[in-house]
Amino acid sequence: SLCGPSSVRFKKYVVPASKITQSELSRLMGLAKPEARTLAIAVGLLVVSSAVTMAVPFSMGRIIDIIFAETQGGSHQRLVEYTQLLIGVFLVGAAANYGRIVMIQNAGQSIVARLRQNLFSSIMRQDVAFFDRNQTGEVINRLAADTVVVGKAVTDNVSDGLRSVASAVVGIGMMAFMSPKLTLVVLGIVPPVCIVAVLYGRYVKRLTRQVQDSLANATQVAEERISNIRTVRAFAKEPEEVKRYDGHVQTVYSLGIQEGKARGIFHGATGLAGNLMMVSLLWYGGHMMVTNEITVGTLTSFLLYSAYVGVAVIGLSQFYSELMRGLGASERLWTILDSKPTIPLSEGHKIPHDRFFGKIDFQNVAFAYPTRPDAPVFKNLSLTVPDGKILAVVGTSGGGKSTVGALLLRLYDPDSGNILIDNYNVRELDASWMRQQIGLVSQEPVLFSGTVAENIAYGHPSATIEQIQDAAVQANAHRFITEFPEGFNTIVGERGQSLSGGQRQRIAIARALLKNPRILILDEATSALDAQSEHLVQEALERLMQGRSVITIAHRLSTIRNADTIAVLGNGEVVESGTYAELMALPDGQFRKLVERQTISAN
Ligand code: ADP
Repeated sequence: SLCGPSSVRFKKYVVPASKITQSELSRLMGLAKPEARTLAIAVGLLVVSSAVTMAVPFSMGRIIDIIFAETQGGSHQRLVEYTQLLIGVFLVGAAANYGRIVMIQNAGQSIVARLRQNLFSSIMRQDVAFFDRNQTGEVINRLAADTVVVGKAVTDNVSDGLRSVASAVVGIGMMAFMSPKLTLVVLGIVPPVCIVAVLYGRYVKRLTRQVQDSLANATQVAEERISNIRTVRAFAKEPEEVKRYDGHVQTVYSLGIQEGKARGIFHGATGLAGNLMMVSLLWYGGHMMVTNEITVGTLTSFLLYSAYVGVAVIGLSQFYSELMRGLGASERLWTILDSKPTIPLSEGHKIPHDRFFGKIDFQNVAFAYPTRPDAPVFKNLSLTVPDGKILAVVGTSGGGKSTVGALLLRLYDPDSGNILIDNYNVRELDASWMRQQIGLVSQEPVLFSGTVAENIAYGHPSATIEQIQDAAVQANAHRFITEFPEGFNTIVGERGQSLSGGQRQRIAIARALLKNPRILILDEATSALDAQSEHLVQEALERLMQGRSVITIAHRLSTIRNADTIAVLGNGEVVESGTYAELMALPDGQFRKLVERQTISAN
């Protein structure tokens, strides 16, 4: 994450803490199962292309020996034949390589696509509490990045790993076949050098990652300050912010220098090691050639095979670290895929249409948000909304007014007590069905990117354009919509036409009207609109409320006066309830105080 702590531990070499367990590994590899056929073909092609690759050093040696023999006189016939044969073999190798890469890519893409679909579907079904616990950016990362890492781990990485194993085994086998003595010399040098190189390479990689992390920290600081320059300016904090950024840049700088040194050592040393290896092979092999133990061709083959084996060992180390990365990423995916929501989307009773009236009861409800279990919002909340009546919920900010709506929508379940709709416990009802019977107009209506018409029809996708237009008329939104050049096809939402607060509200009201719910939750905007907008919104809301059971989270006196009952929240329960006149008549009443302190706005 961008904002993670910048742990600077580059001095220590830390082995990754994750341990491979059998079940994690087999679950990860299990993802490749549906692609078994594609992958089997890919492995077959891999065998062919590896065989061709591994034949190269041997053939080169043979050709050199042929050339050498021909310099002593004779025809060029064998050289021509051998070259032709090799070209044929290489063409087969190229075709096999092409097929292998295409197959692996196909399998990988199918796995990633399937993972993404399952994961998004699982995310969409999670309890709302899941989204309180997990940051959006993190969840998006699971979907975008972890899926790719996992897909690669079980396709590309396995294929590369197999190839490395094959090269190492075949390479060493071929060398042993050609000259056991020289093989011992190579085995004495190559693996130890490779192991040291691999370990040091990891250290360099870790440094690189630290440079990137600290750069990300610095960038985040800059981004936040630049996008909030008005606040920085208003507090005259420019010099401090520059200093703060300097500090971060300094860290990036010193890590970068360190990285440069480590890289220099790595490349210098590996290059030197490779060259020294060649020289020692030439020296020892040269001796053997002079004493006629091996031919010049065999020596050449040997040099090439030892390089191949070196590359294969480095490949195996990459295989290991990619596998670890894949396991880490898959573990994060399993936590989402395995977590079963406590509030299932759809199972349970649906009240038949002709027996559904929309009466609401909260009975002795106690509730704390799952992320803040020590801060109960309700201790003992009881409310009733008879069908077709309006209940205004009022109280101080943070008193739990919006939470009433969240509980009714069953975004959360109460810790104790019951919520009933038409005497059915909401826990017994099909949650999706129930939510379709409830309209919500929130303080900050959300419009998705799409046209105005699509946004209005969000709760009723099969609506005709006439129905959409009619809802817009009822919501006092028709006029401003038709004034846009594209009318109902105007794109809104992110990167679309920007709408004023009042316009958004009226689109949200049109959306709710079209959905035509029995029950309505209104979360009144706290910030006042201009008088004209206010009037249009108010009028539209009154039309929307007609004939429905309404819980309105009210801030305005006008709405409150129209309510059939007012419930005043305080200390996790209803402290007063009654009509406006009844509550104002209480000499020392909470409601009266709220009105007098103008917590409730006058208009
Ligand atoms: P009101 O609408 O009366 O202002 P809310 O119902 O929004 O009050 O909030 C009641 C309390 O619950 C507040 O203390 C608020 O900070 C807390 N709260 C609201 N939403 C969440 C949430 N998703 N997770 C944790 N706490 C929350």
